[in-house]
Amino acid sequence: MKILNIVEVVIIIILFSFTLSLFMSRRKLKIYKIVILELVLLLLVGHFTYDTFIKKPTITIIGEKDITIEAGQEYVDQGAKSDLHGRDISSLIETNIQVDTSKIGDYKVLYKLVYKNRIVENERVVHVIDTTPPTIELIGNNTINVPSNSEYQEEGYIVQDSVDGEINNNVEIKKEEISENQYKLIYTARDFSGNFSSIERIINIIEPIKKEDKSKNGYVYLTFDDGPSFDMTPKILDILKEENVKATFFIINYKENKKDLVKRIVEEGHSIGIHGNSHKYSEEYKAVDSYVNTIHVMEEKIKSDTGITTSLIRFPGGSSNTISSKYCEGIMSKLSKIVLQNGYRYFDWNIDSEDSGGAKNADEVYCNVVNGLSKKRPNVILMHDFNGNKKTLEALRNIIRYCKNNGYTIDKISDDTPMITHKIAN
Ligand SMILES: [Zn+2]
Repeated sequence: MKILNIVEVVIIIILFSFTLSLFMSRRKLKIYKIVILELVLLLLVGHFTYDTFIKKPTITIIGEKDITIEAGQEYVDQGAKSDLHGRDISSLIETNIQVDTSKIGDYKVLYKLVYKNRIVENERVVHVIDTTPPTIELIGNNTINVPSNSEYQEEGYIVQDSVDGEINNNVEIKKEEISENQYKLIYTARDFSGNFSSIERIINIIEPIKKEDKSKNGYVYLTFDDGPSFDMTPKILDILKEENVKATFFIINYKENKKDLVKRIVEEGHSIGIHGNSHKYSEEYKAVDSYVNTIHVMEEKIKSDTGITTSLIRFPGGSSNTISSKYCEGIMSKLSKIVLQNGYRYFDWNIDSEDSGGAKNADEVYCNVVNGLSKKRPNVILMHDFNGNKKTLEALRNIIRYCKNNGYTIDKISDDTPMITHKIAN
């Protein structure tokens, strides 16, 4: 363009001076020659004028005019350029980029340029599409064992989508039988663009835990809840050691300075189980997830502190508690199933020493226990090792001696102990 204009200018100058010289000379020129000459001159001048003063600059888009990008990706505009008669005037371009890549749709990117009152525009179209399926994460194990007399309790899932965020409601669960004792649940999550993904959970139907296990009839299981405590736990451990019996401690979450107590419980051969995090019912039972989480946290902590993996649980207040309904309706029905599905076993009790309630002194604790004993069943005794619980401490040796003298077998709760459970009431 530039070169042509220079040529044009040169031609015009030559023609102009030639015409001028013609008119100046004395020789007569034929009129039609002059007309042709002037026409050519006029045309060139016209073209030059148009190009310089009327012609608009153009905006050239850099890259594709039509772009498709995946939602969630960052959109970087490549910009546009413009020149006029070889002069780069790109800096005059104003760009309006309003591409929201978190929402699918078509977006226009506008480029505008004002040059000597002449407005020039161009646009690019950006298509934001969503072809990424959501991700599903199962809460709980991928394989679950459910007793044949129980129903699988859905443990939940978390569905995340790059565009739609958490879309837990858009999940369809299909049950597909594999065999008589096994089926799978297929979870299909769909995002609002129609992308979907699936994940499976295997459910094994197992024999229910036998309640009619007579092999442990006449056994006595001493259980201590709510510890460890500096005040009580070491003294209880001393008595158990002296009497050469093993017991079970259902502990609540503990600080670093109680780690040695927990280690001692395990080192001296006792069983350890999970009770809770804080024992505040409003916290323990605010949601299914939070108690399940407590179990995992405690299990890990006990494992790293003592090296043992426990599968024993005692729910705060027992599985029959109704106080939990104040915080979460139906939570005990759900939790009791979920813990079993995940390979844990929970124990209530069939003898309450009432050392955290009605028993006023050591004698009453002793009487509550020995009066409850029976040879026709396993006996799970509820006691506590929280700070200041002297009456249990004072009654313990006599309880142990009574059991020994009357043909009971004292043992700790272990994998072959039949589950003693209450009736769920929430
Ligand atoms: Zn407790």
